[in-house]
Amino acid sequence: MILKLRTTQIALTSLLQKEKEAETADLIIKLGGEGIRKCYQCGSCTAICPISEHYMISFRKSIKYAQLGLKEKLSSDLTPWLCYACGECSNSCPRDANPSELMMTLRRYLTMIYDWTGISRLLYLNSKILLSAIISLSVLTGIIIYFLHGPIITDRVALATFAPVELVEATGRLIFVSLASILLLNTFRMYRLSSSRIKLSLGIYIKEFFKTFLPNFLTQRFFKYCSEKRYWVVHLLIFYGYVASLILFEVLLFITHSNDPFLFISPLSIIGLFSAFSITYGGFVVIHGRVKKTKPLWKYSHPTDWMFIILLILICLTGLLTGIFRSIGWSIATYMVFSIHLMIVVPFLILGVPFTKWSHIVYRPFALYFGRLNEIRQSKIQEVVRL
Ligand code: SF4
Ligand code: SF4
Repeated sequence: MILKLRTTQIALTSLLQKEKEAETADLIIKLGGEGIRKCYQCGSCTAICPISEHYMISFRKSIKYAQLGLKEKLSSDLTPWLCYACGECSNSCPRDANPSELMMTLRRYLTMIYDWTGISRLLYLNSKILLSAIISLSVLTGIIIYFLHGPIITDRVALATFAPVELVEATGRLIFVSLASILLLNTFRMYRLSSSRIKLSLGIYIKEFFKTFLPNFLTQRFFKYCSEKRYWVVHLLIFYGYVASLILFEVLLFITHSNDPFLFISPLSIIGLFSAFSITYGGFVVIHGRVKKTKPLWKYSHPTDWMFIILLILICLTGLLTGIFRSIGWSIATYMVFSIHLMIVVPFLILGVPFTKWSHIVYRPFALYFGRLNEIRQSKIQEVVRL
């Protein structure tokens, strides 16, 4: 009797386990990982990947975890972050499984897993919710501007009077601190999921931060190993365009948001123009690729890919237009375009940065950093075994 009960219990546990695994695999397919059904584990993707020449990784193994729906293995896997979506592997996959897109899908999956708020999951799995969230945040920003804007001066452009400096600064800081906190907590979850509990000294954490995290964050050097260098340049342009706008409109907001006439030839304006042009150019390269499907990685586009790249370009164009109207002294046009600019910036930052693809700016270098710490832990274990 006891033996029978035990057998039934084991059968039930295994059934539940299988259901969970099927759910995970289905979820990955929903996120764009249709190719896991085609992959027959030949390993060509790992063999051909330019990254695997520099790093001991197996993309094939990550695909295997996805096929089997192994949630724990997938959640602790840092490999998908090392892929820079060059598409080499998809060109040579004998089953047309598009491994490059599979890696992108696994990054979406991991972004969802790291996100403790659950918002990421909602946005990735339901494009209607995503669209409604963007529209709601945009309308809310419009309402706040409508009720809280300052006096409308028309004989000259007085942007800092129309949009009071204190209000813009306080809102900017609030959004920045909230988003940074969410992203940091998500990164901590990433660390907990991907790292063993073996302790390392603080010195190692600091040393590897400067040796691994910072250089990779600043140069995105793994992208360079992928075949087409121009995409590395495009990637860097978007990245530094992003950083420049963050410095100008967050750190230096007290200078850039003023009533002074806008001059195109000034150090800050040049940084602003660099930011706008590089992001717009990079954005159009990506959109062109997605429309024409010129590369395997652009064959499939998740709705979030479209929405956020379009928002990013609109942010740059409205920012640029605000500068142009401001410099030629069209006050009403400046106030209107600036308001539209804010109505796009807010949903982009709040939804895009911590919850979807844009978080990869932080996750990628951290994946290399955590991976390196794991290597050090591994070598410590081997030392102990040898002793
Ligand atoms: S090359 Fe294609 S079939 Fe072979 S392991 Fe990679 S994804 Fe699977
Ligand atoms: S897309 Fe490029 S970097 Fe990513 S796995 Fe394929 S070959 Fe490697």
